[in-house]
Amino acid sequence: MASRMLVTHALPYANGSIHLGHLVESVQTDVFVRAMNAIGKECIFICADDTHGTPIEISARKAGVPPEEYIEAIHREHAEDYKAFAIDFDLFYTTHSPENERHAVRIYDALKADGAIDQRDVEQVYCGVDKRFLPDRYIRGTCPVCGWKDQYGDSCEHCGSTYEPTALLEPRCAICGNTALERRSSPHWFVKLSKYQEFLRDWTSAPGHLQPEIKNFVDKWLAEPLRDWDISRDAPYFGFRIPGEKNKYFYVWLDAPIGYLSSTDKWCQEHGKRLEDYWKSPDCEVVHFIGKDIIYFHTLFWPAMLHASGWSVPSRVHVHGMLTVEGAKMSKSRGTFLNAHDYLHAGLDPEWLRYFYAANLGASPSDIDLSLGELKNRVNGELLANVGNLANRALSLIWKNGGRLTTTGSPLAAESLETKLADLYRQCDTRAVIQNVLDFSSQFNQRLQRTKPWELLRTDRDAALRELTLAVNAARLCARWLAPIVPKFAAGVEEQSGAPLNWGDFKPLEDAPIREPRPLVRKVEDADIAKLASKFVAPEPEARGPRPEAPAGGPTPEAQSITIDDFSRLDLRAGKVLSAERVPKKDKLLKLSIDLGEGAPRTIVSGVAQSYQPEELVGKIVCVVANLPPREFGKGLASNGMVLYSQGGKRENTAIELPPDVAPGSKVK
Ligand SMILES: [Zn+2]
Ligand SMILES: [Zn+2]
Repeated sequence: MASRMLVTHALPYANGSIHLGHLVESVQTDVFVRAMNAIGKECIFICADDTHGTPIEISARKAGVPPEEYIEAIHREHAEDYKAFAIDFDLFYTTHSPENERHAVRIYDALKADGAIDQRDVEQVYCGVDKRFLPDRYIRGTCPVCGWKDQYGDSCEHCGSTYEPTALLEPRCAICGNTALERRSSPHWFVKLSKYQEFLRDWTSAPGHLQPEIKNFVDKWLAEPLRDWDISRDAPYFGFRIPGEKNKYFYVWLDAPIGYLSSTDKWCQEHGKRLEDYWKSPDCEVVHFIGKDIIYFHTLFWPAMLHASGWSVPSRVHVHGMLTVEGAKMSKSRGTFLNAHDYLHAGLDPEWLRYFYAANLGASPSDIDLSLGELKNRVNGELLANVGNLANRALSLIWKNGGRLTTTGSPLAAESLETKLADLYRQCDTRAVIQNVLDFSSQFNQRLQRTKPWELLRTDRDAALRELTLAVNAARLCARWLAPIVPKFAAGVEEQSGAPLNWGDFKPLEDAPIREPRPLVRKVEDADIAKLASKFVAPEPEARGPRPEAPAGGPTPEAQSITIDDFSRLDLRAGKVLSAERVPKKDKLLKLSIDLGEGAPRTIVSGVAQSYQPEELVGKIVCVVANLPPREFGKGLASNGMVLYSQGGKRENTAIELPPDVAPGSKVK
């Protein structure tokens, strides 16, 4: 196995704030890096802001500052947010760097030398007022399919249709409002990706490179000849000029992943290392963490670029699931959007979120849901009441009784568990890590309940102190195993027990002084949750600009097929809405009472208060998913099922109605 490891997470786009969705990836990657370092890998963590493209050029112009100044301000904000959440990059750099320009040009030259670059004319929409070509996202108009106004040039957010910008009704420039748009043609540069199809088939199939779920749908892209990739953009643009061309720039998605390489180069220069030892050496694993939205770039474009230019191809691309918030997609228009600084300004402990994310993330790319009630229950019930309690109870009793550890009496056999945890960390299965550590800690809490050292102190002080010393040593193991997830918590155990926590060291800490115990983590109060929930609002009319468009590359992970058995596990029933009311302080939610023919009606919570007045739903026969586990929506409010709605009508959500003569409880098949 390689001794070195280079780990990256996706580069945040320098056109907006870090939000709680970004932090899922940051936490997962940071935990991975900390764990790899703890178990003895020489692992560096590299990141940068992704700074180029039309959205940034336009935002900077709107803000009246040069783009360089605009991205610098964002970089400062990003760096502060990451630091607050203990995301410990070795370098957080920028793609607008001399190193990145040099590497982008070299890789472009290598692709050209390999015969993989093609030039041809492309016709695009042009605004004569702004004197620029308009990317699809900068053309707005009426959807040709459903007639919804103010949609993008490539797709309708309302009905989900995709189309050519020319099909849009009443098209206009999103920048200046000009409706007299022209079509003009200009030369563009393409990478002939199909040239690397065989290489990509091999690379994606090699064991360990991709998770099985991800490999399965990358296969669908690879089943067809890969489309050529347009890597050029016309001026005005913020990015790197294509050498030898006037008014032509590299598309941001060419130089963004090269930021991984060029930022490593920068780190190497600053630390007296050789770039080749990280990007050209079999003794270094290159591991990328990404979200589901950028799989195409990282599993096709990026390995092909590296392969063509003689750098190491990634050892592994790990994809995590997307974040939903209280069961709904994180979205500004739905008011379920939270920025990192919203969380921090509400006064919540970043370690709570790290713990919650790690407790929910597994090795597979399943989505995870941020439920504030669950966050509170997990932190209070697990971190605080289990591991924290073990450490705090034992340390406090020792502190009051001489302040010194004695001997543990019986040895702690934990080598095999630690080996297992190292492996789980490697697989990014932090959910299982936490479960194993909680089980271990519970054993010692139960042992304390049984041996009652607080009573034993009166009759057999030595035996009592032995029990407590054993408990402290068990808590120290738990703390070191959880340290990648909750470093501050672990540092507290380390400091109070008086000696460093090191993986692989199983010699018990005995006959040594401890320091005064204090709480290791604050309890999550209802008031904390309420404070954070109050930030769940303020939909912005227009974000600061979209991320550069991803190529319409084929199926998404969500579109994978399921079996008939998967479908038949759903228990769908007709339900009659008996009453509906708003939920105080939750302006998205309606609390419904629904008759499912079970005798007593069920309470079901729906996030459709902005689509329906409560009384409009009363009396309707709706379609209910009846076999979901109950879900908490706050104090005393649990939902016992889910009502189905369709999107794409006049309302944002339209209840799926069944005819009035269908009896409540009837099965829907
Ligand atoms: Zn539409
Ligand atoms: Zn215009």
